[in-house]
Amino acid sequence: MRALVFAGPGEVRVEEVPTPTAGAGELLLDVGANTVCGTDVRIIRGEKTAGIDRGVVLGHEVAGRIAEVGDGVEGFAVGDLVGLAPVVTCGTCHACTRGMEQVCPNASIVGYRIDGGLAERMVVPAHAVARGNVVKAPREVPVEHLSLAEPLSCCLSAHRTYRVELGDTVVILGAGPIGLIHTQLALRAGARRVIVSDPSAPRRAVAESFGATTVDPTATDLGEHVRDATGGLGADVAVVCIGMPRLLADALGIVRLGGRVNAFAGFPSGATAEIDPNLIHYRELTVTGAANSRRSDYRDAVQLIADGAIDVARLVTHRFPLEQAVEAIEASASGDGIKIAVMPTL
Ligand SMILES: [Zn+2]
Ligand SMILES: [Zn+2]
Repeated sequence: MRALVFAGPGEVRVEEVPTPTAGAGELLLDVGANTVCGTDVRIIRGEKTAGIDRGVVLGHEVAGRIAEVGDGVEGFAVGDLVGLAPVVTCGTCHACTRGMEQVCPNASIVGYRIDGGLAERMVVPAHAVARGNVVKAPREVPVEHLSLAEPLSCCLSAHRTYRVELGDTVVILGAGPIGLIHTQLALRAGARRVIVSDPSAPRRAVAESFGATTVDPTATDLGEHVRDATGGLGADVAVVCIGMPRLLADALGIVRLGGRVNAFAGFPSGATAEIDPNLIHYRELTVTGAANSRRSDYRDAVQLIADGAIDVARLVTHRFPLEQAVEAIEASASGDGIKIAVMPTL
């Protein structure tokens, strides 16, 4: 079969690999869609290598249909539509036993250590099947929408940490796929107003279509805009959805007394940010992080997509065949589209 293989830093190509089968306890998926994200861009450019095994098949936002059910696996049948939560945790470490499995230091991640979804088929290892990482969805859900359960689950995990309350003003810094998901979650949670800041006009237009108001930060001072919109108080919540360290300082400066700031985006390794620590001290701000998601978040994400409660259809703007997986990842970096799906059956 064909698959996108990581041969080494900056060396990524579609090549022929042995077609896998499902062993005992395993599931084999016919991949329907694997959406690509900023992490894949960093991998093909050779900027991210830590934790990625040479020879691994890339792709961690995967959905497909069950092709084979391994011996001893219950609850799945050939043809079931499923999504895969890509973080396969140990279940026994300090983090896992304290409700923080999303940061399990022993986790194996699909597309990093476990062969991923940028392939015609993929095997879900027995440990992942046993841990409940494979989640069924109603068969009518478009498979490239179901792939977005992964980024949605990460946003849900963060959303629960930074909280949005009825009537809140929420500022989203960045209108990429992640910012646009946080925007929808905030509005559904009862935010009175969501202000999205992004220099891209097409992306701002999508945010507006969801009900947000938008700001072009290259033309308007975001801090001033937020102060004007809130009678000088500041926003209740600010979510940093682009990995630019200075945005963290911006976010701290635009929230109200007792406001909440979430550093959702990953920053380049070794990055530092200059912040005014007294903003946190005197204004009693709460600053939270975000990394991956729990299996429960993933299950909730599948449900929200199946129910149509979060509009993912508007986020999937491009579809590429598997042979063009590298081009698909490059296209996602160009910022033309929002979310790009690689679909082996195209
Ligand atoms: Zn991703
Ligand atoms: Zn663990």
